[in-house]
Amino acid sequence: MTNDCIEKFDKIIPFTLKKSKVRGRFVKLDKSLNTILKRHNYEAAISLSLADILCSSCCIGSLLKFNGFFTIQGSSKDTLKTILAEYSSEGNIRGYAGYDTKKTILEKDKLNLDQLMSKGHLAFTAIESKSNKRYQSIIPVQNGNFSNSIDYYFKNSEQINSEIICSSDFSNNNYISAAILIQRTPKEYNSSNDHCDFFEEAKLFLNSIKKTELLSRNISIEDLLYKLFHSLDVRVLEEIKVKDKCRCSFERVKNTLSNISESELSDIKFSDGSLDIKCEFCKKLTSLSKEDLYSIRK
Ligand SMILES: [Zn+2]
Repeated sequence: MTNDCIEKFDKIIPFTLKKSKVRGRFVKLDKSLNTILKRHNYEAAISLSLADILCSSCCIGSLLKFNGFFTIQGSSKDTLKTILAEYSSEGNIRGYAGYDTKKTILEKDKLNLDQLMSKGHLAFTAIESKSNKRYQSIIPVQNGNFSNSIDYYFKNSEQINSEIICSSDFSNNNYISAAILIQRTPKEYNSSNDHCDFFEEAKLFLNSIKKTELLSRNISIEDLLYKLFHSLDVRVLEEIKVKDKCRCSFERVKNTLSNISESELSDIKFSDGSLDIKCEFCKKLTSLSKEDLYSIRK
């Protein structure tokens, strides 16, 4: 990985086509993704699923019109019990997965989400920081790759004509993930005088891109957008940088500990009354003595 790559990727590029008749997002994650996935050190199949979900959460989360968070959380009784990716409006991402490490299926490098989470569900949640209001849609995990689940979410929840492609790869000890989303805007719906359907045209171009090209480290996001959509007058808007940053804090740990029952607490305490709490996202360890615990809960 060179410095050049670090500058080129880990960002969301919003763009428009044909004077805002179609809007889109192009996300490519490299350094931030590698830091997260290498910290967790999951099996490749799990890491690649988390990569897809992190990248898609940036795509959809950056469409929010308010400051807050966007999470995609999967849950099932299958091998992959839980998987969660979170995007904040500042461009911070975090994620983790919980799974049955004994399952031999994990020896395969690449598995679709439905193979890891059969009969599972995905919750898409937007949380507004100021009001703490939540907007949630829950869908069944769709067959095939993760993009199919996102398509299903858009068709059933947002009811905006959208198309997404998303792919992740691991080679030369490095992960990379990319996603491109396009949406028909109300401007396109109202342009009944236009005989040409720009959204359908953009969809054709989007689906023509090869996985190797989408994930290539040799072409910048901007250059690839131009290559794909130059005939549709692509305009690039202000980028959002993406960082690996957790929002755990000592205050949150204190809050949790002051709200759990004595029996729950005794289940997680060491015999000397002390306690270690590890953040599931960033693995930061908070060690508390018996006296610390007493002062938090008094
Ligand atoms: Zn954390």
